[in-house]
Amino acid sequence: MRKIDFKYIKPYLYALIIFAIPFLLVPIIKNAKKKASTPQKQTTNKVKEKTANNYVIVIHAGAGNFIKKDISETMEIKYKAKLLEALEKGIDILKNDGHAVDAVENVIKILEDSPLFNAGKGAVFTHNGKNELDASIMDGKTLNAGAVAEVSNIKNPISAARKVMTNSPHVLLVGRGAYLFAKQQNIELVDSSYFFTQKRWDYLQKQIKRNKIEKHGTVGCVVLDKFGDLAAGTSTGGISNKHFGRVGDSPIIGAGTYANNKTCAVSATGHGEYFIRYVVAYDISALMEYKNMTLDSAANYVIKDKLVKAGGDGGIIAVDKDGNIVVCYNTTGMFRAYAKSDGEEKVVLY
Ligand code: ASP
Repeated sequence: MRKIDFKYIKPYLYALIIFAIPFLLVPIIKNAKKKASTPQKQTTNKVKEKTANNYVIVIHAGAGNFIKKDISETMEIKYKAKLLEALEKGIDILKNDGHAVDAVENVIKILEDSPLFNAGKGAVFTHNGKNELDASIMDGKTLNAGAVAEVSNIKNPISAARKVMTNSPHVLLVGRGAYLFAKQQNIELVDSSYFFTQKRWDYLQKQIKRNKIEKHGTVGCVVLDKFGDLAAGTSTGGISNKHFGRVGDSPIIGAGTYANNKTCAVSATGHGEYFIRYVVAYDISALMEYKNMTLDSAANYVIKDKLVKAGGDGGIIAVDKDGNIVVCYNTTGMFRAYAKSDGEEKVVLY
């Protein structure tokens, strides 16, 4: 076999190598560029990015047709102090990188533990002299939600609602079932007498005499946390002198409570039957989502136009995904407070 002399093929080999270099380099460069622009897959969810670094918290303790002269100076101080205490709790959680849902639950717990408001201790009585409490919570990031209704032995219904959201496949548990679930989840239970307050009892007697059903003092909280997540929660004793297992809007997701990271977080208070029928909290969110309305115009339309025409009184607190706060009510007063990460803070009753 004839031997090929290397010196004859050398120039061809060099030419082939020079010709092939661009073809070899292009995919290598392309791959490197792609790697640089693709975020690394998160291997741990312990460290979560803060998207906004700002937080907003709004709380309410009911809307009603009261004016300044209806509330004594001493009571005004008490109401404001408790609202401030709850607000400070929320600020503390949010400032320290806490999550919206945690802030909502813990703020509402403080309001539930106070006899000043119609939620938890301080809840109004049913016609039959019982306290039947309702609460709900919603996580705007996941659209998960939990609620309990008609409970009489759960110290903090908002915590039971949160457990329904996180530890059950359901959204709303009522009465005895909610009680059994709370027990299973080690939620603090109390004797129903824990909810007795003389003030609410006397009020019920008046309502029975006048044959009236009235609402007052439901509590709620909406939050935008530093991670850009929204949450809302509401807790109530319902309306004084209510009959036959009546459940209001507060534990109904979409009526009294709604949160969606796409739009806003809403907590309502007022005549529950109207808030259920007009799906108030969700309606506000839907107007933002489908009609591109601002939170302010959506809330004003629903509360001051639609509800007024229908005859439903009450109001809402809300915060949108950009941190805009709206407090909107068609009554004369609404107990509320808010705080922002820039230090702005307010407690207002009328
Ligand atoms: N919305 C509550 C209910 O109807 C009452 C209230 O907000 O005061 O149960």
